[in-house]
Amino acid sequence: MPLQRLAGPVHYLPGVTNAGVIIGEGNQAILIDTGSGDRSGRAILRALDEAGLRPSAIMSTHGHGDHTGGHAWIVERTGARVYAPGLDAVVLEQPAWGTICLFMGAEPPPELAVPRYAPRPCRVDVLVEEGVYREAGVTIQAVPLHGHTGSHTGYLVEGVLFTGDAVEGRREMEAPKLSYLHSVTCQLATLEYLRTFPCERYLLAHDEPTAEIGGLLERNLAHIHNVIELLLGELAAGPQPAADLLAAVCRHYGLAPRHLRDYALLHSTLHSYLGHLLTTGQARYELADGKLLWTVA
Ligand SMILES: [Zn+2]
Repeated sequence: MPLQRLAGPVHYLPGVTNAGVIIGEGNQAILIDTGSGDRSGRAILRALDEAGLRPSAIMSTHGHGDHTGGHAWIVERTGARVYAPGLDAVVLEQPAWGTICLFMGAEPPPELAVPRYAPRPCRVDVLVEEGVYREAGVTIQAVPLHGHTGSHTGYLVEGVLFTGDAVEGRREMEAPKLSYLHSVTCQLATLEYLRTFPCERYLLAHDEPTAEIGGLLERNLAHIHNVIELLLGELAAGPQPAADLLAAVCRHYGLAPRHLRDYALLHSTLHSYLGHLLTTGQARYELADGKLLWTVA
């Protein structure tokens, strides 16, 4: 797969998860995310080889396995330096934390340890914070886009913003469901922030490059507000457990999780919404007869 140019030295390799490739000094390349698993890492290295490039660094948008799965393969063969934002770096180095969180802090059953949730571990060299980094003579601005994960980060290079999973793409928005969110409150702030963010092109992780994401941002925002309205309507019917609220959301969006790993993601995301409603004073909980019940504030 040849490199696709976005602007100047900024390229990408299209895939299920797009990988950014920025060409720096001395035929070095800076990668942004590496897709899923060793297979993806191998394909990226092959494409760089064909272009006469060698990776000097990998910038990670966040710690999910479909974005960091190729890291270990590439680092083992090239010694590339790995950048990752704080909370996500923990998951890169200790992938078990991802599945532990999905199982509410308890030891997760083996069926949750799929590569998508628990890729091979990879050491992190640089903890990314908001600011400017220099690698192979290239200036890269780390832009906090928290919400999808606790420290999810975008990267701005030469007017191109790599948004990772901060914005859902056109295909996901055709039939929106309950996509994973760590923090609804942060995600709403991120989408608002992007409305006025100055850049020339965007590369979403799971869509084609575009110069305009205004319409997508509106649809992303509208979808989150729709879920909030749906939950407030359910909560108005009286105190109920989170499991009943999740069942109502599943009915509404036509979701029928068949595996614990799918249910666990939905369960976590529902609690991101409940946490948002709680901290914004729209919902409250009560404990009765050993049950945690949610209702309108
Ligand atoms: Zn993700």
